[in-house]
Amino acid sequence: MQRIVIIGAGQGGLQAAMSLRQEGFTGAITLIGAESGLPYQRPPLSKAYLKDGDGSRLDLRPAAFFEKSEVTLVSGVRAERIDREGREVHAGGRVFSYDHLIFATGTRNLRPPIPGLERALDLRTLEDAARLRGELERPRRIAIIGGGFIGLEFAAVARAAGHEVTVAEAAPRLMARVLSPELSARFLSLHEGMGTCVLLGRPVSAVTDEGIILADGSGIAADLVILAAGVVPNTELAVEAGLEIANGVAVDGQLLTSDPSISALGDCASFPDPVTGARIRLESVQAATDHARYIARRLVKGAGAPYAAVPWFWSDQTDWKLQIAGLAGPGDESLALGPDAVLRLRDGVLSAVETVNDAKTHMQARKLLGGPNPPSRAELEACGFDLAALAK
Ligand code: FAD
Repeated sequence: MQRIVIIGAGQGGLQAAMSLRQEGFTGAITLIGAESGLPYQRPPLSKAYLKDGDGSRLDLRPAAFFEKSEVTLVSGVRAERIDREGREVHAGGRVFSYDHLIFATGTRNLRPPIPGLERALDLRTLEDAARLRGELERPRRIAIIGGGFIGLEFAAVARAAGHEVTVAEAAPRLMARVLSPELSARFLSLHEGMGTCVLLGRPVSAVTDEGIILADGSGIAADLVILAAGVVPNTELAVEAGLEIANGVAVDGQLLTSDPSISALGDCASFPDPVTGARIRLESVQAATDHARYIARRLVKGAGAPYAAVPWFWSDQTDWKLQIAGLAGPGDESLALGPDAVLRLRDGVLSAVETVNDAKTHMQARKLLGGPNPPSRAELEACGFDLAALAK
């Protein structure tokens, strides 16, 4: 294999290029990215960058890295077509031939068909974040559509800066897709305690020049509306190329698509959950980087055991760091160990651990969940829920 082309120069695309070199790949690597400039990290866009505006710390690697590692970065160019038969990517009037192609196209904001939604601003790219920083320079009444990680991180920064903030969430609780009811309630009290107005079970039905209208007809005055209601995977290229799609570019346990010359990773890829076998798609730095490392190793060293990394996530809201190890399903039981730690159990076996400002327990949980047999409720009870003892 001589030529690897990566579409998408974000967290996972860049990691794939770096890991290929670390694994000893000596052929050509081309990284094609639609955004201009160097690949950067998104997590600070809704956290530190919003506060300090220091974009210099966002770059994942300096320009010199690309020269030194002989990775050709083609930035500000969108891949438009894949010719699978000819093994070519067409982008910006150029043609890039590949022996193996890696799809790392990420996601974009979900834009539900809400009248007036074009007035709402996104928070996905550095360009979006720079614009929002400018908007926050004068006092604002802000309405945020969506009470997930990104909406709440933005709410925390904006409220701390003195803006009037309302969060409208369609679900009956915050971060409902990923978090236990206990910690949803704890974060609700955090945000309400800061003076943010949080509306739960209140879908937004329209955005106007005056603010947002909720499904029950009531209106919230706002001069800045932020859309943070989830994302959709960028699969158009894969669809046109005839690859199998299932809530993302479908890959198998080796992270290969339905074409063995094409892998997919990160936010845009749906893969078999190593625990349940169900197809999942994760939106996290961990998934993007672990996928990339796995694919690079497989391409250089050959196929091994299926992908099995433990998922983990974090979110910073004020000085609360939420960390989740593992992946709980919506029906998983929760068992609160205290106000800041919740165990999730599926069929009586540990599936995830949620903590606030407790990195030690989070790391122990990752170790336990990554082991061959995550503990059962009986084992947890027998040691008084001492994760450290079990993780030894
Ligand atoms: P991305 O990093 O999104 O990169 C995909 C790239 O592909 C983009 O640059 C896109 O422009 C490019 N692209 C798409 N189509 C094409 C095309 N046709 N041609 C060329 N290029 C193309 N995760 C966490 O784990 N913790 C956090 O605290 C956290 N905070 C976040 C805060 C914000 C504001 C955002 C937006 C995301 C956050 N995330 C967080 C999610 C995390 O950033 C993503 O999961 C991660 O970036 C996914 O990496 P990726 O490589 O799959 O996609």
